[in-house]
Amino acid sequence: MVLKYVEAPDVKELVDEIIESLDLFHIVPQFVYCNRSSGSKSERIIARIHGLRRIWQEALRQPPAYVIEVISEHYDRLSDEEKEKTVIHELLHIPNGFSGGFRPHKGYIDRKRVEKLHRVLLKRRVMNSET
Ligand SMILES: [Zn+2]
Repeated sequence: MVLKYVEAPDVKELVDEIIESLDLFHIVPQFVYCNRSSGSKSERIIARIHGLRRIWQEALRQPPAYVIEVISEHYDRLSDEEKEKTVIHELLHIPNGFSGGFRPHKGYIDRKRVEKLHRVLLKRRVMNSET
């Protein structure tokens, strides 16, 4: 099967909400794109993040940018909560400098941090619905 990519407005909406709710000021929302792929042979990967690295920025004369790719076969059947945690995880890979590079898992991205941020997201939602 051939890999297919389509835009993922549902993921983009979630990304924008999470950036705002979690005060991720280092992330430039308009340069975070979201797409959904299908036909992946990968058994385990739910989502991944791609960065426009410095060499490409220079060659294409483009600012740093990221694409969050969700793998349709795996992401789409998750609960909303698991989708949110997946997106939080991917956003944590974006470093403070929004350079087009990545922050590695080691010592920073783990289940505990994701769960904690997810609780903040839920709290903010409640606060927003009360005002
Ligand atoms: Zn990761």
